Amino acid sequence: MDYKISQIEPYVGQEELSNLIRVIENKWLTEGPFSEEFLSIIKQFTGAKHALLTNNGTLALYLALKALGIQTGDEVIVPDFTFNASGSSVVFAGGKPVFVDVDRQNYNIDVTKIEAAISSKTKAIMPVHIYGQSADLYPIMKIAKRYNIKVLEDAAQAYGVFYRGKHTGTIGDIGMISFFADKTVTAGEGGVLLTDNDSLYERLQYLRNQGRLDSGTFVHKQLGMNFRMTDLQCAVGVAQLKKYQEIEGLKLNNFRLYKKLLSDMDEIKVMEEVDHSNLVPFRFAAIAKDLEALIDHLEARGIQTRRFFYPLHSQPCFESLGFRTKTYPNSDYLYGNGLALPVFPGLKKEQIVYICNCIENFYK
Ligand SMILES: *Cc1c(COP(=O)(O)O)cnc(C)c1O
Repeated sequence: MDYKISQIEPYVGQEELSNLIRVIENKWLTEGPFSEEFLSIIKQFTGAKHALLTNNGTLALYLALKALGIQTGDEVIVPDFTFNASGSSVVFAGGKPVFVDVDRQNYNIDVTKIEAAISSKTKAIMPVHIYGQSADLYPIMKIAKRYNIKVLEDAAQAYGVFYRGKHTGTIGDIGMISFFADKTVTAGEGGVLLTDNDSLYERLQYLRNQGRLDSGTFVHKQLGMNFRMTDLQCAVGVAQLKKYQEIEGLKLNNFRLYKKLLSDMDEIKVMEEVDHSNLVPFRFAAIAKDLEALIDHLEARGIQTRRFFYPLHSQPCFESLGFRTKTYPNSDYLYGNGLALPVFPGLKKEQIVYICNCIENFYK
C-alpha cells in the first residue's frame, strides 16, 4: 500500500547531500574527517569523556557487553518492553537476558521490580530509554552499586534526552545511541558508545578496530573485529547533528499538537511525561481503545500505524530462556493496547489534524 502519511521520514535534504558530495570529492570513504567531526559534536553535546563509533546500535550493545566482560551464563537485566535488540545482543554476547516489567504509564523499566530479578549471576543492568524519555537512572545506579553490577544504557532512541540535566548514556558505565533511519538523528545506520571510563574505552577501541589502536598498522595486540562506520554515513550524521535543535523542536511540536487535539477523548491515553527527563518524542505513543479496529480504520485512510514493541518474554526467539510462563502485566497491556503514530519532523500540521479527525470519527 502506498501510504499518504508514513510512520517515519528522516529529515534529510540539501545539507546531507552537500556533505556527501564532499566525501566523494575527498576520496576518503572510511572513517575520516566527518567521523572526527561527528564524534566531537557528540562529545560536546552529551558531555561524555569518550565516544566511539560503531556500525549500528545493536552491535554497539554487543561490543559494550563484551567490553564489560559478559561471559557464558552471566545475567543481564533488560526491560521487557523494548526493541528486540536489547535482549538479543545479550544472547549473542553469551549472556542471558532477564526480563523485568515496565511502568504502565511511562513505559520505562519499573525500578521497584529490579532487585527481585537480581541473582548471583547478574553482571549488568541495561536500562532502555524508551520512546524519548529517560528511565529513572539514579535508583538504578544505586541498586547497581549495592550489588556491584554494571550499567549499560540503551539510549538508542534518546539522542537529546537528558536525565536530571545529564545526557542519557553518560550516567551508567557505558551508553549507546543509535543512528538508524528512524531514530531522532540518523546516518542511515550507525551507533555510538559513550563512556567516562578510560580502561573501558581502551577495551572498546581494541574490540571495534581489529585489535589495534591505529588503523594502517598490521600488528594486532589483541583480538578485535570491525565495527567501524564510514565517512559517508558520518557526513549525513554531521548534517543531522547541526540541525538537531530544529529536529527536536519540530518533533516536540508535533507531539504537543496530537496531545492537544486528542485530550478530550477518553478512548486515548497518551504516554505520561515524567519529571526527571525532557521528552524528545520517538513516536506519538498512546494507549487506544479497540486498538485493532482503530488501526484498520487509520490504515484504510492512508495513515501508516505501528503497534508497540512485542514483550521480550513472549518473543519466539527467546522461548528457550523460559520467561513465557512468567507474568508481565504491564508490557502485555502495552503491547495489547499501544498505538504509535508518526511524529517525524517533516509531518505537517494539517496531517496531524487529519489523523486526529480520523481517530475522532472512529470513536463516534
Ligand atoms: C533501534 C534500537 C536498537 C538497535 O539499534 P540499531 O542501530 O537499529 O541496531 C536497540 N535498542 C533500541 C531500544 C532501539 O530502539
